[in-house]
Amino acid sequence: MPGLLLRDVAHLLTFDSDDRELRDVDVRIADGRIAEIGDLEPQPGETAIDASRLLAMPGLINAHQHLYQVGLRSIPELERVLLDDWLIGLGRICTRWWNDGHFTPEAIATMARAGMVESLLCGVTTVADQHYFFPGGVTAPYIEATIEAAREVGIRLHAGRGTMTYARSEGGEGPDSACQSVDEVLRHSLELIEKYHDPDPLARIRIDLAPCGPHVDRREVFAAFAEMAAEYPGVGLHTHLYEGVDTQFCRRRYGRSPWQVIGEEGWHNDKVWLAHMVDCPRGEIPDYAATGVGLVHLVAPDLRMGFRPAPVRWWLDGGCTVGFGTTGSASNDGANQMGDMRLAALSHRQHSPDPERWLSARELLAMSTRGSARCLSRSALGTLTPGAAADVAAWDITTVDRVGVHDPVIGLLLTGLSDRADLVIAGGEVVVQDGRCVSIDEDEVAAAARATLPPGA
Ligand SMILES: [Zn+2]
Repeated sequence: MPGLLLRDVAHLLTFDSDDRELRDVDVRIADGRIAEIGDLEPQPGETAIDASRLLAMPGLINAHQHLYQVGLRSIPELERVLLDDWLIGLGRICTRWWNDGHFTPEAIATMARAGMVESLLCGVTTVADQHYFFPGGVTAPYIEATIEAAREVGIRLHAGRGTMTYARSEGGEGPDSACQSVDEVLRHSLELIEKYHDPDPLARIRIDLAPCGPHVDRREVFAAFAEMAAEYPGVGLHTHLYEGVDTQFCRRRYGRSPWQVIGEEGWHNDKVWLAHMVDCPRGEIPDYAATGVGLVHLVAPDLRMGFRPAPVRWWLDGGCTVGFGTTGSASNDGANQMGDMRLAALSHRQHSPDPERWLSARELLAMSTRGSARCLSRSALGTLTPGAAADVAAWDITTVDRVGVHDPVIGLLLTGLSDRADLVIAGGEVVVQDGRCVSIDEDEVAAAARATLPPGA
């Protein structure tokens, strides 16, 4: 792979251990890694890129996504509903698509491709996807198709084998029409790990084990997944927790909190990262930090579902690992992680009169890079230091909509007509240049996704 030299980066956020910010600096990329940062001379064969207008940082990491939901945006009947009705409506629509022959692996790949291109365009170079919807209880190759799509697009993918195993008819809250047996889930998970999982620090594809949640999954799945993850280095454990529905269910069914339930099944360790956590009890926060689990903040879907913003400041105060993500498009309507950080910067203010308690642009960007990388146990990602992965996202900070900005880092979050990145590099390869995707034709990806959607979608 030919090397790259980013010349004269106007402002570089490293998110290294000292949180260094460098100005007018060069970055050398070779063999998929950051080779050097400093005042550098071009070497023969190297491609130089003028970065003198750019604010650059590690590629963003979306630590919680459901790519299959790209075809489920802005549905009128789900525009103004809260979680319970949203879950029912989403299940009804997906089941209808399945019955009509539209919920196929090919269709899911087309949606996922669009979602991943959108992600690259807003600076995301790693996506943690969780696919848990298997209509008819049939293991179709949705995840396999998503992995192939990620390879075409040039993004890093954590493919989470999602599950729903505890049907309503058996006392759980999963839809009967989409629940699977524990045996089948374990069989397929093992197959995915053996076929696709790469433990290498620079892996482009990893498999994680990702039950949908303790209200829709049997406790045996959590226990079996914890055992399986312990056998395979780099296989992570991920689930939704503390979204209200699971809190009530665990109290009623088990007389425990969701955190206690997963802990009893071997989920209190640093392989685990948890999505949402909006109604977690404050008294448990020291345990989250002590056990090393990661917590993902998902502000846009939390607001869309009518939740109070998650207690992110408490998590940070408690020393927890905190990442950032968007979740799927059915409850976010997009994969714009930069836009969601703006939302987080503003929406948390109403919960404290003390401005020092509000989330700053730098804190949010740290969550979206180094923080999400820690959630995914990816120490080579989320930071720009020699030896780290060459995943870089950069925005032009000299455009007319950013005139007057005093601090480019704050300005990146709070200003601009668009969140499109100008330059994105994933694994040492340029995937977005001049604000356009160059690893795959984004217009063709969009047209293919539109053509795949069911009539009237
Ligand atoms: Zn989710």
